Amino acid sequence: MVCDMRILVVEDEIGLADAVGAILRMEGYSADVANDGRTGLELALKNEYDCIILDIMLPGMNGLDVLSYLRVKEIETPVLLLTAKSETDDKIKGLDCGADDYLTKPFVKGELLARIRAMTRRRNIPQDINPKYGDITLEMKKGELICGSSSVVLGRKEFQMMELLISRGEQIVTKEDFVKKIWGSGGDSEYNNVEVYISFLRKKLQMLHSAVQIKTRRGIGYCLEGGRR
Ligand code: CA
Repeated sequence: MVCDMRILVVEDEIGLADAVGAILRMEGYSADVANDGRTGLELALKNEYDCIILDIMLPGMNGLDVLSYLRVKEIETPVLLLTAKSETDDKIKGLDCGADDYLTKPFVKGELLARIRAMTRRRNIPQDINPKYGDITLEMKKGELICGSSSVVLGRKEFQMMELLISRGEQIVTKEDFVKKIWGSGGDSEYNNVEVYISFLRKKLQMLHSAVQIKTRRGIGYCLEGGRR
């Protein structure tokens, strides 16, 4: 497999870090390995990665602090957190801090590679193609929703939801579609999340004075309206 993706691995268990680095290189990725949080952060700030594999428990600066710092600096590289079984709370905190996914140790090679492929998939889309519907444009690189001369930054989930809505236009996106594509599982909390994020997106459309509206099709899902003027 030939690809030009570059991945950063931040893990203090040297054996594991080296093994992950070797697996990635075997698959054709370039891999940099850091064994503590600070070095990992420095590399992540200095280089452009397609994905960061980040352990939570690290000496010096823990993974969650590294992640928060990156997100504050508006570095939106997809982050896969590595957690130990006992670190369930950290996992939730990590997702709140802006991690994209997590993997519980120990894991098998196939699982790791599948997660990386899923996380980097969106990046394979040529990013100069910005989806449009009606008077709104989704700016893929900056993660912004644009209407006329106004723009607003979307959160990661908001962005993914808007991308899905625009791709369907006036066709309905069901709650199941959102949960499957964005959360990847079907817990009740995810179903409630869909409603919450839809309300955020509606507020942002209003802020932009867009003619586009997100319509609820009760019991079915959501679709866009107002594309034709
Ligand atoms: Ca560790």
